[in-house]
Amino acid sequence: MLALLLLVVLVASGCVLWFMREAMQNERMAVREKLAEAYHGQLVLVRAQLLERWSQQLGQLESTGEDAGRFARCVREGLADSVICFDEQGRAAYPHLSGGRDLAANAELFTLESSTNKTGPQFNEIAARLRDRVNDYATGTLPSAQRRFIMHELQRLNPGVEFPTLAAEELAARYLEANEAWSTNTTLRATELREVWSVASPSRRVLALFTTAGLRAKLGKVVGEPLLPKGVTITVVGPNEDAASESTLVSASLGPELPGWQLALSLNDRKLFDTEAEQRIARYLVIGGVVIAAMSILAFFIARGFGRQVQLARLKNDLVANVSHELKTPLTAMRALVDTLLDAERFDEKTTREYLELLATENARLSRLIDNFLTFSRLERNKFKFEFTRIRPLEVVVGAVAALGERAHAPGCSFESHAAEDLPSIRGDLDALVTALLNLLDNAWKYSGDEKHIVLRTEARNGSVCFAVEDNGIGLTPRECQRIFRRFYQTDQRLARVAGGCGLGLSIVQSIVEAHHGSVHVESNPGRGSTFTIEIPVFVESAS
Ligand code: ADP
Repeated sequence: MLALLLLVVLVASGCVLWFMREAMQNERMAVREKLAEAYHGQLVLVRAQLLERWSQQLGQLESTGEDAGRFARCVREGLADSVICFDEQGRAAYPHLSGGRDLAANAELFTLESSTNKTGPQFNEIAARLRDRVNDYATGTLPSAQRRFIMHELQRLNPGVEFPTLAAEELAARYLEANEAWSTNTTLRATELREVWSVASPSRRVLALFTTAGLRAKLGKVVGEPLLPKGVTITVVGPNEDAASESTLVSASLGPELPGWQLALSLNDRKLFDTEAEQRIARYLVIGGVVIAAMSILAFFIARGFGRQVQLARLKNDLVANVSHELKTPLTAMRALVDTLLDAERFDEKTTREYLELLATENARLSRLIDNFLTFSRLERNKFKFEFTRIRPLEVVVGAVAALGERAHAPGCSFESHAAEDLPSIRGDLDALVTALLNLLDNAWKYSGDEKHIVLRTEARNGSVCFAVEDNGIGLTPRECQRIFRRFYQTDQRLARVAGGCGLGLSIVQSIVEAHHGSVHVESNPGRGSTFTIEIPVFVESAS
């Protein structure tokens, strides 16, 4: 049952947590959408600007001039990473795959390579002339393959020298090697070369080539130009990249002109997003926490109530079983005695008296048992009304000894009571303390052999009055000493039955003593005897 309750609480808490999580996610999404909506306009604006600039630049690819000159201008102005100019028939006009040779350039290169003094003025002069020649796209007639070759050679001879168009020359050459056909596609598309894109100018006479990195940088420059609000960045995302990263708020495709390419707007400052979401999430957390706490408290009280019920039911069962069992012994004995008396033909006075005395003993035993049951039951149900008054310890002693009655002076029993003089008063319920002490005396009597020697000592010690009952009985092992105060515990049931106990006496003693803020403990040696001591705090004026 408890496990079931725990399970219900756990499942319910799990559900609440799940709902909370969902709600929090929804909140985050809602906030995100709100922000995305707000920034979408911004992104559309940037995209329009970018596309306009893009088509402008495609238009700029076509300027008047010779093919080689046009190539150089496009590359130097950064309109593309490389370009290929086509003639009207769609043949590559510059750069081109084949062509003649410029003999003068070759001769100059040969002179440089065969020169023994590679630092002399003459060498430098020829090198400078050759450099000018390969950089001259306007008047020179160098075929592109030869130009590239000479550029490389010059770089080999003089490693520091740079040729701004060399990379473009090479890219174009690579493209032409892979694609013979004239590309007339005026929208950007991927070429057969890895990470290389091409787009033809409106008249299809110029084909611009871009590397992915080059294109991204180029587009990125345009994107970075408009003044964006603080904390907002727009990045260009290539076709093979994922725009939907965690920080991306909204993305927009760049349309058919730049297929596959996207613009992604992200917030650098997550606080902008978080503070809005956090306020709402905090509300959910509070509500969820309250619900779980309420459920747990409710479950706790149900469990406690249920535990009490179970305990009570168990106690009732134990009590019923024990009561019927324990009452049976004295009743059977009494019945046998009465039957024997009735069966006798005439009453002999001596025998009748003996039988009646035995009957009285059994009767007293029965009364004690029932008294114990009643006391216990009242203590358990908290119905026992203690009436605390200032009492003298000797009143308790006298009451208990009187209740022990004749047994104290029975044959084979020696009973002594020693009380210190000037004992301080104690605060307590006289009847309850007499019951407690009587139970100890009763036990001492019951669990001692035929030669009983019982001593009751009453003395003051450490702010308490101690009632110690010492016997020379069967004694207890240390393990038993720890258990005897439990209800219904008996070390030897057979012996207890003969003695007439039900395992409640000491638990009653303990309850009474605890109600008096006192304590009870036992010292015992198996076979030698036991000493049970009750300690009750002395009367203090303010406590009355
Ligand atoms: P009961 O009514 O059976 O005597 P108690 O609660 O008074 O129940 O005692 C519990 C058990 O403790 C007894 O059954 C007995 O075994 C043991 N006991 C109590 N007092 C003594 C004693 N003075 N000497 C030896 N054993 C004792």
